[in-house]
Amino acid sequence: MTEQLPVAVVGAGPIGLTTALGLAHYGIPYVLLEEDAVLSSDTKAGTTLSRTLEIWNRYGAVDRILGAALRIDEIGDIDRATNTPRASVQLAELANDTQFPFVINLPQQKMEPLLAAALPEPVRTQHRLTSFEVLDDRVVLQLETPDGPQELEASHLLACDGGRSKIRDALGVKVVGETLPERYMLIDVVVDLDVDNARDYPYLAYFADKSEWMVLIRQPDNWRFLFPLAPGADTPDDEDLLVKVKQFIGEVDRIELLGSVVYNVHHRVAEQWTKDRKVFLMGDAAHLITPMWALGLNTGALDASNLPWRLAWVLRGWADPSLLDGYEQEQRPVAIEGSGEMAEAARKYMSFQRGAVTEATGPWATAYNRTLLSVRLDVEGVGDWSMVATSAAPPAVRAGDRAPDLVLQSPTGRTSIHDLCRDSFVALYFTDVRRRPEIPVNESPALQHYAVSRWDAPHDSGLRDRALFDPGSVATKRYGVPAESVVLIRPDGHIAAVAPMGPGVAEQLYTRVTGREVP
Ligand SMILES: Cc1cc2nc3c(=O)[nH]c(=O)nc-3n(C[C@H](O)[C@H](O)[C@H](O)COP(=O)(O)OP(=O)(O)OC[C@H]3O[C@@H](n4cnc5c(N)ncnc54)[C@H](O)[C@@H]3O)c2cc1C
Repeated sequence: MTEQLPVAVVGAGPIGLTTALGLAHYGIPYVLLEEDAVLSSDTKAGTTLSRTLEIWNRYGAVDRILGAALRIDEIGDIDRATNTPRASVQLAELANDTQFPFVINLPQQKMEPLLAAALPEPVRTQHRLTSFEVLDDRVVLQLETPDGPQELEASHLLACDGGRSKIRDALGVKVVGETLPERYMLIDVVVDLDVDNARDYPYLAYFADKSEWMVLIRQPDNWRFLFPLAPGADTPDDEDLLVKVKQFIGEVDRIELLGSVVYNVHHRVAEQWTKDRKVFLMGDAAHLITPMWALGLNTGALDASNLPWRLAWVLRGWADPSLLDGYEQEQRPVAIEGSGEMAEAARKYMSFQRGAVTEATGPWATAYNRTLLSVRLDVEGVGDWSMVATSAAPPAVRAGDRAPDLVLQSPTGRTSIHDLCRDSFVALYFTDVRRRPEIPVNESPALQHYAVSRWDAPHDSGLRDRALFDPGSVATKRYGVPAESVVLIRPDGHIAAVAPMGPGVAEQLYTRVTGREVP
C-alpha cells in the first residue's frame, strides 16, 4: 500500500480551520500551518449564517460555537432617516429547511479558537510556508519554523492563506476586481441598549441611509457599529467615534469604547483556483468579497464545504481525480457573480443607490437567500446555478440545490437528512412503503439507500432497516418531487440528481458524479 501523505492546509483563519475540520471529519490526515504564533485577534467578521452553521454541524464543531454565540431570528432592515422598518428578515420562516433557522453573532477572534479546539491535530503555529513545488504525485513544501527550515511532503496543498495569498502569487494567478473608494469603520462599545437605554432594535439591524448607512450588531458581550467612511475622510479619533455612535442611537447614560478598526473593502476574485488537481485556493485567497450581509467569511465556508469530501472520495479511491474539478466549477461563479454581486447590491441597497437588490420575493425567499441556504451549485457543469430563490413558497428541489434538512424517523429514532449524508452519498426514494418498493440493501459506505414514506415500514416488509417514516409527508412535500422519484444527495448536502426510481438508478447516478462504480 502506498503511504498516505497528509493534506497541507496553509493558514489558520476561519477557512483553514473549517477545512481542516472537514478533512478530520472524513479521516484524512492533515497538517494545518500558520505563520503567526497565535490565532488572529483582529476585529473582523461578526455574523455567521445558517449555511455555515450547517457545515460546522457536519464537521462536529457547531455546539461549542453556539454555546459562545448570540442567536438571532430576525435581521432588521430600517430606514434610518425615518426610523421605520423596511422588510425585516424573519428566519423562523426556515423551520422546515434547516436545523438552524437563525444566524449568530460571534466575533471572529472568539470563533477561531473554538474551531481550533475542535481539531484533533493542533494548528502548527510559527510555521510559515516560504515556497513549494508541485510534483506528479505530491507537493513539497518549504517551511520556516522556530526550529529552522523544514521540508514537508503533502498529497495536496490547500491555500487558505488569506487575501494576500503568497501561494496564489507563486502560481502566477491574477486577481481581478476593484477596491472601493470608501472604507468601512467598525466600532465596538459597551453600552446598555437593553434596559437603561432600551432601543429594541433587532440584534442585527441594517439602517439604510443615502449619506451614511449603518449596521448595528449585538455581540454576545457588547454592541458593534459598522458604517462607511467617505472617500478621503480622516479616520475619526476616539472622541469623534463616541459622538458618531450617539448620532446613531441617541443620548445614552454611559458608553465605553472597546475598540475600532478601519478597513478597505475589496471585491476581487482569483482568475484560476486550482493547479494540477494538487493546489487549491480557498476563502479570501480565492475571493475578497464586500463584507456586506456577512458574505465574506460565509462564502469561504462554502469552499470549505465543497472541497474536503471530494478529496476524501479521491483519496479513498471512491472517485476519479476528475471529481476535484467540480470545486472550482461550482464555487467560482458563486463567489464572483453570486456573493460578490449580492454583496455589492446589498451595499447599494443600504445607500439607496441604483443597481440595488430589487423587489422582495416574500418572507420565505428573503430568509432563504440571506442565510445562504439558497445556493444552487452548477453540479452538471452547464452554467446552471443560482444564489437566489425567487418563488414565494419553497419550490420542488432540483439538482444542485442544497438539500433541505428535515427530521425523519429512522428505525431506531430520529435522524435528519443532513445527518444521513454526513459521510456518504444518500439516495432518498420518495415512495409508498406499503407497496414494498425495491430499495437496494445498504452494502457500501459510499452510497446509502433509504425509502421516505408517510407509512412506517411494516416489520414484515423487509424494508424496516432502510425506511424513514415521514409523518404527515412533511419532508416529502418540502422536496416536492414526483412520487416514485429518487433524490441523490452528496456528502456536502447538495443534490446531485433527481430521477425516476428504477433498478440501479442511484448507482448509475453515483457513477456519473464520481467517475467510479460504487465501491
Ligand atoms: C474588518 C473586517 C470585517 C469583516 N466582517 C465580516 C462579516 O461581518 N462577515 C463576513 O462573513 N466576513 C467579514 N469579513 C471577512 C472575513 O473576515 C474574511 O473573509 C475571513 O477572515 C477570511 O478567512 P480566511 O481563512 O480565508 O483568511 P484569513 O482570515 O485572512 O486567514 C489567513 C491566515 O493565513 C495565514 N498565512 C498567510 N500566509 C501564510 C504563510 N505563508 N504560511 C502560513 N500561514 C500563512 C495568516 O497569518 C492568517 O492567519 C470581514 C473582514 C474584515 C477585515
